[in-house]
Amino acid sequence: MTRKTSWIWKGILDGLENFNQGTLWRLGSGKEIRFWHDIWVGDIPLKVRFSSIFLLARVKQGAVCLFRRGRDGARHWDVKVKRALSEVETEELQELLEVLRQGAVLTDCDDVVVWKSAKAAGFTVKKGYEWLRRGRPIQAITGTKSREIWGCKAPLKVKFFLWILYQRRTLTRSRLVRWNSGLEEACALCGEEAETADHLFTSCQLVRWVWDHMKEASGLDVQFRDLEGMWRAGKQMRMVGDRSVKAKMSQLLVPATVWAIWLSRNQVIFGGQRPYAENIWELAKNLIIDWGNYCVGARGISFQTDKLVIP
Ligand SMILES: [Zn+2]
Repeated sequence: MTRKTSWIWKGILDGLENFNQGTLWRLGSGKEIRFWHDIWVGDIPLKVRFSSIFLLARVKQGAVCLFRRGRDGARHWDVKVKRALSEVETEELQELLEVLRQGAVLTDCDDVVVWKSAKAAGFTVKKGYEWLRRGRPIQAITGTKSREIWGCKAPLKVKFFLWILYQRRTLTRSRLVRWNSGLEEACALCGEEAETADHLFTSCQLVRWVWDHMKEASGLDVQFRDLEGMWRAGKQMRMVGDRSVKAKMSQLLVPATVWAIWLSRNQVIFGGQRPYAENIWELAKNLIIDWGNYCVGARGISFQTDKLVIP
């Protein structure tokens, strides 16, 4: 069974992959990212990809935002060079500008480093996470929106996924507006609606069934219609604030359910399984029990007649 991966998920998967390969920036305002030297559009620095233009560039240092000219509505990318360009160089400059037009969307958010690499052996997700905590855009990753993601007791891989999902969403929206295209594939679970992130994780009928059960089981308000609502719910659980096992377990409900949905969706697409809400629910429960045992250190977490029991 082959299936084109929609660009939204491709973006997320690329992000995860890059986590194991090098430094990757998520473009926000473009104030922190070095235009030529950092990896922020495509997989290699622009100075490598467009080396002859870099050699001729008047500005070789400087942040991304400095290469942006004009006022709202008439903004464009401007790369000044030292002399008249040959035909080949002109083509290269055109290609660079095209790459920027296609791939670079400035927003009001902070630039964020997704990960610092280690080509060196022994790089692990854990080390990348530690680097993130120490790294320079520390404010960006500890901002209110991401604290509930990084602060919970889910495995790092899951937190990273949630974080990319959160980061991607902003970018996704602006791309949707710009391209306004029907590139989304039908939802792998219901097969009826377009598989946007909002749909897949919150409003798909199968997924809503799972969230309803999660609400029943936990007594916590995990019903929402879009990702914004989901992040808000996650944040509220975070604000419970106490360090009891119950608080830590509450904070796992959203990550575990999202991860169960994501794994199930992938099993449908890549493993050819049929989608059942019951299977997603079973998986979510198992994840909560496992994470409770191994990440929170709470023994005896269980679901009894579908009620979450925390001893
Ligand atoms: Zn669906």
